[in-house]
Amino acid sequence: MDSTAKQTILVVDDEKTNLALLHHILASDYNVIAAKSGQEALDRVATTLPDLILLDIVMPGMDGFDIIRKLKDNPDTRNIPVIFITALDSEADEEKGLELGALDYITKPFKEAIVRTRVRNHMQIVHQMRLIERLGLLDPLTAIANRRSFDEHMTREWGSALREHTPISLLMMDVDKFKTYNDTHGHPQGDVLLKALAKLIAAAARRPRDIAARIGGEEFVILCPETDHVGALDIAEQLRAAVAAMTLPAGQISTSTTISIGVVTHLPAEGDSPQAFIELADKRLYAAKTSGRNRVVGDPGTNRQGPKTIN
Ligand code: GH3
Ligand code: MG
Ligand code: MG
Repeated sequence: MDSTAKQTILVVDDEKTNLALLHHILASDYNVIAAKSGQEALDRVATTLPDLILLDIVMPGMDGFDIIRKLKDNPDTRNIPVIFITALDSEADEEKGLELGALDYITKPFKEAIVRTRVRNHMQIVHQMRLIERLGLLDPLTAIANRRSFDEHMTREWGSALREHTPISLLMMDVDKFKTYNDTHGHPQGDVLLKALAKLIAAAARRPRDIAARIGGEEFVILCPETDHVGALDIAEQLRAAVAAMTLPAGQISTSTTISIGVVTHLPAEGDSPQAFIELADKRLYAAKTSGRNRVVGDPGTNRQGPKTIN
């Protein structure tokens, strides 16, 4: 990163000496702004969105916990990472802070090297997240890859499969009767469900090169390089069962939701395009829908026994 694009850190502490010390430690690498109270911190944030906030817990008036709650309540400030700074060496406070969404803790008295390293580590993560956001590769609702990201991975992995002579598999899935779910529980609850589903789908994409993406409103894919058809059907069947068994956290609507999945596998040859491969996945997804939903449809020639799976 060049120095003209210095990242901004807001440090919040009611003691001037602490502010001065943090400024001394961080000012050569970052643009440091300071606030001496909770209200001042919120005012600063309203005008300049910092990349990171170092937040003292014990302050007169609004304390660090109050401030982080306010930050998390506001969609504009929700994603600003917060590190608590505290003299308190109490596990309960750490737990409370982390539950409220803090990333980490730095304890007073400050050790210069530790402050520097922790901040640098978190800033690197922030930088990468911003990059991904800027590239437009993340689906904002579910925070998994979006359609564009999937298209890019598809092209790249298809090329690798061709060169390496390895099979590539695709799971294409769609939520069953999602319109009814929205009509019954409301669109916001529908969004809650999509987020929970995305988590399960992302968890099913277990290998490092697997990619889970949301490619439409309630349509998801998992692309699995170096995966044969039986392996892909296993992933699909496990995911189908996990979704059917999913319950949402307390207070949120809990009804059984199911997905249908079409699965394809191909060993790409020169001249093949991923287009036909994707279309076949879509066709099998459609077959899963028309044959009753909550099921996996793969290659009819593959002999895989399993519940709700049609080969
Ligand atoms: P099927 O089993 O045949 O897939 O039935 P379905 O009702 O799921 O299919 P349909 O395509 O008719 O409806 C899809 C619904 O998904 C309608 C649309 O309102 C909803 N939807 C699409 N994107 C979103 C979203 O981002 N959030 C919410 N809450 N709903 C969405
Ligand atoms: Mg649907
Ligand atoms: Mg659909």
